[in-house]
Amino acid sequence: MTNSFHPPQRTLMGPGPSDVSPRVLAAMARPTIGHLDPEFIRMMDEVKSMLQYAFKTDSPLTMPISAPGSAGMEACFVNLVEPGDKVIVCQNGVFGGRMKENVERFGGQAIMVEDDWGKPVDPAKVTAAFAANSDVKLLAFVHAETSTGVMSDAKQLCQIARDNGALTIVDTVTSLGGSELDVAGWGIDAVYSGTQKCLSCPPGISPISFSEKAVAAIEKRETKTPSWFLDQKLVMGYWGAGAKRAYHHTAPVNSLYAFHESLVMLEEEGLENAWARHQLHHNALRAGLEAMGIGFLVEQQYRLPQLNSVMIPTGVDEAEVRRRLLADYNLEIGAGLGALAGKVWRIGLMGAACNKQNVLLCLSALENTLA
Ligand code: PLP
Repeated sequence: MTNSFHPPQRTLMGPGPSDVSPRVLAAMARPTIGHLDPEFIRMMDEVKSMLQYAFKTDSPLTMPISAPGSAGMEACFVNLVEPGDKVIVCQNGVFGGRMKENVERFGGQAIMVEDDWGKPVDPAKVTAAFAANSDVKLLAFVHAETSTGVMSDAKQLCQIARDNGALTIVDTVTSLGGSELDVAGWGIDAVYSGTQKCLSCPPGISPISFSEKAVAAIEKRETKTPSWFLDQKLVMGYWGAGAKRAYHHTAPVNSLYAFHESLVMLEEEGLENAWARHQLHHNALRAGLEAMGIGFLVEQQYRLPQLNSVMIPTGVDEAEVRRRLLADYNLEIGAGLGALAGKVWRIGLMGAACNKQNVLLCLSALENTLA
């Protein structure tokens, strides 16, 4: 007979998922009701408007996709890229590479703008890519690169796209709720995120939002969107403004209770206060790490407060350190990804995990383990 699964109580300070707030977990355990129940639909409306607050947009095409961040990414590309479309894709880490994959799988032509891992997207290279290519439909980039801990200047990159008549697709999986993000103010056309980073919520939901211009581009597609599940025209029948809430798929009812609660908590704290909290605890973690002689991969002005890529001290068996942190302190930190594997640790300070106790735990556990 197989026993019930009882996970250990960890402190999640890796690249995500991050610690889930007990309030969010409690919300998830509330009774399941029908996904067309009037009470559930009332809750959906609240989710939409709180999500508009979190993204800073009043776009009606703002909703959670019932699948993880990768599905949000795919929803943006599958709806906006048609065969033959030119898309400038910026790559300065793992996730820009996935954007290229998406463009190519949907028949688009990816024009790559590459920057070193650990550096932000260089706006001058993006301007040069527009100058060298006519009729570019989209510019796609990652606002907060989780693989490196770098923030790119989304406001400036969106301005360059607009100046060249292109739409933008922006990955905010790690930035939403943790760093300044202003979807309408910066003129982002398609944005996606995830619940498992700075929103203190379990993984599995992907918030997205499309601007009016993006909706117009979707509406005038000449080819059918090649994904049924992610076709926004169909999803809008369920989630759209004034939609009849027609059955599209069975919404993940309890996961959406969790998401609702995490957005209530974000509203209570205030968006700007949440950004400030991430910066405050990053500053404390940075001071402690630097006092231990541990340096950062990324130049200070481009660092994400919520994802700290730190250099592994020479001679240290990095996997053994992570194993001991987990075994002795129930503390998870992340390994380097791709080109940075074996070179950096990624220490997350995201959402509910971004607090003073965790900073102190991480510093003391690392110091003891490295001694
Ligand atoms: N984009 C970025 C920047 C990410 O950090 C992640 C996940 O870590 C994703 C996309 C994919 O999200 P998910 O793992 O929820 O599918």
